[in-house]
Amino acid sequence: MSARILVVDDVPANVKLLEARLSAEYFDVMTAANGTEALAICRRAECDIILLDVMMPDMDGFEVCRRLKTDPATHHIPVVMVTALDSPADRNRGLEAGADDFLTKPVSDVVLIARVRSLTRLKMMTDELRMRAITSLEIGMQAPERSAVADTGKGGRILLVDDRQSSYERLATLLAAEHTVDVEPNPTEALFHAAEGNYDLLIVSLDLNNFDGLRLCSQARSLERTRHVPILAIADAENSTRLLRGLEIGVNDYLLRPIDKNELLARARTQIRRRRYTDHLRDNVQNSIEMAITDALTGLHNRRYMESHLATLAEQASTRGKPLALMILDIDYFKLINDNYGHDAGDDVLREFAVRVRKSIRGIDLACRYGGEEFVIVMPETDLHVAGMVAERLRRSIAGEPFAIHKGTKRIEVTISIGLTTLEKKGEAVADVLKRADTALYRAKHDGRNRVVSQAA
Ligand code: GH3
Ligand code: MG
Ligand code: MG
Repeated sequence: MSARILVVDDVPANVKLLEARLSAEYFDVMTAANGTEALAICRRAECDIILLDVMMPDMDGFEVCRRLKTDPATHHIPVVMVTALDSPADRNRGLEAGADDFLTKPVSDVVLIARVRSLTRLKMMTDELRMRAITSLEIGMQAPERSAVADTGKGGRILLVDDRQSSYERLATLLAAEHTVDVEPNPTEALFHAAEGNYDLLIVSLDLNNFDGLRLCSQARSLERTRHVPILAIADAENSTRLLRGLEIGVNDYLLRPIDKNELLARARTQIRRRRYTDHLRDNVQNSIEMAITDALTGLHNRRYMESHLATLAEQASTRGKPLALMILDIDYFKLINDNYGHDAGDDVLREFAVRVRKSIRGIDLACRYGGEEFVIVMPETDLHVAGMVAERLRRSIAGEPFAIHKGTKRIEVTISIGLTTLEKKGEAVADVLKRADTALYRAKHDGRNRVVSQAA
């Protein structure tokens, strides 16, 4: 994993120094001598992380950072401010501008590399999600970038794990100004609590009595339910080496005691904002996967999904020597429904039809919309006799209860015809099974509709 780091500083000697250290750790380094140049590089998406000097002529580091973080094209790139200024007020200016972290000049090698590594991991993860979420953008979903840029980072749910009463009382009060805070003074309960609570941020003290806070952090990282929850560690200043270890195992950020109120709030907001952004990306990925395999009108699977999945089911049935039943269902005289009551009424019927289908089949059965008013149901481990009973029950559930149309003001009779068959011979082509079911359906139509016709292999 070789990340590309952009070093921005107006003093060439400073650039050279950081470049040499990062190159020695096999990072790929780019450099820029001023803010304008840096912004251009970032907009071309040429770097993964930015080390940004604060004091520069023309545009200072705060301004560069602010511009990066308010531009949807660049806001996800982690920014580390490299600064000789180290008062809480300066740090807060940077955090308010959206900086992800600070390094104080002269920069310590160990801290530099630990920081850059941890941010690299984060950036790689975000990039992968972004890439996959692009598909959902193409089908018209809201860009997560836009809402991320507008997110204040306030109103989060925080779990604070700290067993010193004076400490957690103060921290909880400070955080409560912007968030909902739960305190867990018992570290052995903390992991369970974190997994149950759907938190946006865990804040973990590393100075717990008889308990290793880092172990808790590492457990939270490996547990499915807490894996993506950011962790902010808090430690006494003399514990700073353990903090570096923390970054290695996946702690996202840290604060040293005594804790400055504004810095605490700013760092919490940064983590929460990032958490919401990546969650949003993850949801988009999930949605785009679902949209790709789902029919929008009925919520059943679409034809593409059925065709790829049917091949797998047929193969499984063959190797296990189990039967596989397949039926094609077609609504009778559906064109007349459209003609007599309108296309919307036709859509209502299709939706309600899908609801009734779902109620009549098992979880392992696969129901899909094959085309207009034609549906396919595939039933693993089901023979022709049992499938015939299911088909008959389905036919009755449609014919037996009129369908509501025109917002429930009218009810109409609907019937279906079903062609049914099974895959029997080992290695029979899926297309042949579909064809046999289709022939059976044709007979059902021909024989008068509203009936099931079975066709043995
Ligand atoms: P049969 O009993 O022989 O199946 O007659 P039918 O009228 O049901 O069959 P046909 O294939 O002639 O007509 C199907 C109609 O379904 C034509 C098409 O406009 C309509 N249709 C296809 N998709 C949709 C849809 O998504 N919504 C609505 N409302 N109608 C649709
Ligand atoms: Mg029809
Ligand atoms: Mg048809």
